[in-house]
Amino acid sequence: MPTSTFTSASSAVPCPVVESLDAILPEEPLLMMGAGPVPIPAAVAKANAIVINHLGGTMVKVIGQVKSMARYVFQTNSKWVLGVAGPGSAAMEMAISNLAWEGTRVLSIKNGFFSERMAEMGRRVGARVSTLDVADRSVASLEEIAEAIRRERPEIVTVVQGETSNTVWNYHLKEIAGLAKAAGALVIVDAVCTLSTMPLEMDAWGIDAVITGGQKGLSSIPGVSLIAFSDAAWERVKGRTAPNAHWCLDASLAENFWHNAGYHYTAPVSGVLALHEALRLVCAETLEKRFARHLKCSLALQDGVAAMGLRLYTPEACRLNSVVGIEVPDGFGPADVCSHISRMHQVEISGSFGLPIVRVGQMGEQCREHNLFRTVHALGRTMVDLGVKVDLPAGVAALERGLSGAR
Ligand SMILES: *Cc1c(COP(=O)(O)O)cnc(C)c1O
Repeated sequence: MPTSTFTSASSAVPCPVVESLDAILPEEPLLMMGAGPVPIPAAVAKANAIVINHLGGTMVKVIGQVKSMARYVFQTNSKWVLGVAGPGSAAMEMAISNLAWEGTRVLSIKNGFFSERMAEMGRRVGARVSTLDVADRSVASLEEIAEAIRRERPEIVTVVQGETSNTVWNYHLKEIAGLAKAAGALVIVDAVCTLSTMPLEMDAWGIDAVITGGQKGLSSIPGVSLIAFSDAAWERVKGRTAPNAHWCLDASLAENFWHNAGYHYTAPVSGVLALHEALRLVCAETLEKRFARHLKCSLALQDGVAAMGLRLYTPEACRLNSVVGIEVPDGFGPADVCSHISRMHQVEISGSFGLPIVRVGQMGEQCREHNLFRTVHALGRTMVDLGVKVDLPAGVAALERGLSGAR
């Protein structure tokens, strides 16, 4: 009798028949050249396979090193560096939900999809959010930003360093932070795709909160992110009267784990170890050399794409180097290109939220010469296969000239 009871209970929802990962995953891993996640170094993959006690002495040491390496990458001496279990958007929500609440005046410089996300998070905590809407493929002038700050008198200004969606680079970031500071506002910067790919100096530029994800510039795994608050921002966090409605993202509770070796929630230990290794590799390379590698690779990629006859989406003055936007030829959609290049050439690239472009990332491990040759070749071949007229040899030659410094 017990047996039959057991059988009927377990057959109410029958056990599914599924395939093993070996059967699902491609035989050769796809080369991840889209807008993230990006390929991870072997040291990161190895660390990601380890589970340790999240409150033990080893973890305390790891956390201490993660914070000090993160301070170097953020270029800050602020004590208030914390990790977040969650995507870049969770770090974003940690910044917004701890610094803004009912009635807070927030000015959001909106360049596209991701900068709009910060505005939306502000609205959701009850802040009075105004947006400075910037036309696609351009940045706001400093005059427009100064005028918006005068008009809105924000307590907080949010801005993205690299707007991954339309591949625009806010190259005025330092000056924008200066304008906001002078008006007494705190500045939150989304550096999810740009951190460690191009200069960002949190302290010297007067930034109050910087957020990043793991899976882009840092070349770690997705799901563990980093945030840094300035002293002024931390004071605001500590001075708020109503508690943050997001319990997991409450910076005061997270302080317990990230600064006092105590418990908040079970930390994603494997992901933190992976992040440790990713940061260690950034430190071993140094920021200067890493920025130079990214710049050289991205410019060579752009040369290669343009030389084969495709058009880059963003004008050079505000073109993001961390993710390159490429116009899709007439008669095709981004999905046609992305699915062909993936299926036929095992290279993954991205579309972009309704824009007529495909995007190729230049973040972390994506900026390697062998990956670039394979990607430019695969993209050119895809165009040929689709019947688009391109000069692939000219593209490969331009890439080589860019990489060998003969640009
Ligand atoms: C990818 C990205 C995000 C979102 O990161 P998730 O990890 O997907 O949440 C936010 N901002 C920018 C600029 C990004 O590139």
